[in-house]
Amino acid sequence: MPAETRLFLCLSDNYGVLLHDAESGATASIDAPEAAPVEAALKATGWTLTDILVTHHHHDHVGGIAALKAKHKCRVVAPAKGTNIPGVDETVREGDKVKVGSLTANVIETPGHTLDHIAYWFHQDKLAFVGDTLFSIGCGRVIEGNPEMMWASLKKLRDLPNDTEIFCGHEYTLANIKFARTVEPNNAALQAREAEAKQEIAKNRPTIPVMIGDEKQANPFLRADIPEVAAGIGMTGKPAAQVFAEIRARKNSFK
Ligand SMILES: [Zn+2]
Repeated sequence: MPAETRLFLCLSDNYGVLLHDAESGATASIDAPEAAPVEAALKATGWTLTDILVTHHHHDHVGGIAALKAKHKCRVVAPAKGTNIPGVDETVREGDKVKVGSLTANVIETPGHTLDHIAYWFHQDKLAFVGDTLFSIGCGRVIEGNPEMMWASLKKLRDLPNDTEIFCGHEYTLANIKFARTVEPNNAALQAREAEAKQEIAKNRPTIPVMIGDEKQANPFLRADIPEVAAGIGMTGKPAAQVFAEIRARKNSFK
């Protein structure tokens, strides 16, 4: 039976998401920004929380764990390199597998935004939960790591099969597109994504999930090794990690 997902808003601009395995009844919350919206989503679906899969230690991803665990006695899986994550039962690292009922995720370490950051890739279900590493047409800020590290992490996600659905931690798509157009003003795939995203937002719908194959065509942070992108920011011939660092720096100061 295919995996089911349910996406919902938490805090001011975080996404919460539940992953449900109908075969076993298991349900995982990917991160837990706050407890109440997770509870509301459980109530709406009738699903029972069995697991919380943590991507990284930031408060807007772990703030709801303690309350949810107290109520549901669920298992908390977190990165081995994580710090200050409440209620952890199991830690995982690169290459480990995590089961949610009959569903299986591969753990991919994606340091850069934080040093502990991991993604959960359910390859059979063509789903990846990437937290704050990759966003729709964007990527997370490089807070604890360095640009080389973040670029290497993004390349790992870029290598996932094109039809992998990506769930990320925030709805930043339109702002990201506005910036991306300054890097690649003539990218037709990016222009198409803008039209699509505006339609979804106008209907009050999320722009998430996105397909990694589409991101490869339009997300400048996944395209730092494409000559046209380097040329567009005056960095022809520079190493991709440097091009990535420059794009990230420009985004940080973009208004
Ligand atoms: Zn974060």
